[in-house]
Amino acid sequence: MPQEIVFIGIGSNVGDRQDFCDRAITLMNLLPLSQVTGVSSYYETEPVDPEGRQGENWFYNGVVRLETSLTPECLLEILQETERGLGRDDTHRSGPRPMDFDILLFGQHHIAQEGLTVPHPRLHLRRFVLEPLAELDPAYIHPTLHCSMNDLLEALDDTSCVTKLSFKPGSKYSPRPACSTPPSS
Ligand code: ADP
Ligand code: MG
Repeated sequence: MPQEIVFIGIGSNVGDRQDFCDRAITLMNLLPLSQVTGVSSYYETEPVDPEGRQGENWFYNGVVRLETSLTPECLLEILQETERGLGRDDTHRSGPRPMDFDILLFGQHHIAQEGLTVPHPRLHLRRFVLEPLAELDPAYIHPTLHCSMNDLLEALDDTSCVTKLSFKPGSKYSPRPACSTPPSS
């Protein structure tokens, strides 16, 4: 599998949200065959459920840019296991979540299979995704909508509240080396 540029959305709306996001980034630095090459600011965001009802717990959201040789299926499997490791309750997936990962973009690939749709089908509708995406890579072109993240953000209808936070993401844990580098012989 060649190296691909992948954007992953992270979100937490329970407990110490900053700590969960920082830990998620630290764990992404340990993904095999992968390197974290960018992290957006964190944003505090109003919860909006798919039916448009207002939720209770506000989120911290951000986006991580990863370069990886993992397959999309393998990456999703590791991210879901990491969600569980951080305390995600699979029986109440829509309840409060210590960590939610969404694969937003996987290079220019279109994927439509059971359990995995890429580009993420709601990416272009959500301010809490587009604000950090456009911060990280404003000129990146959406593979099916054929316009940039900045253009999508400017055209967005979503009026939900999204506030950029001033502290540095990932600052609670010092960076650790990725484990994908083969040991020197
Ligand atoms: P959401 O993030 O949409 O609020 P969940 O995190 O509970 O909801 O995800 C529900 C399901 O979405 C997961 O079981 C996963 O298999 C599926 N899914 C489909 N496409 C993606 C994607 N691009 N990234 C992450 N999960 C996805
Ligand atoms: Mg998800």
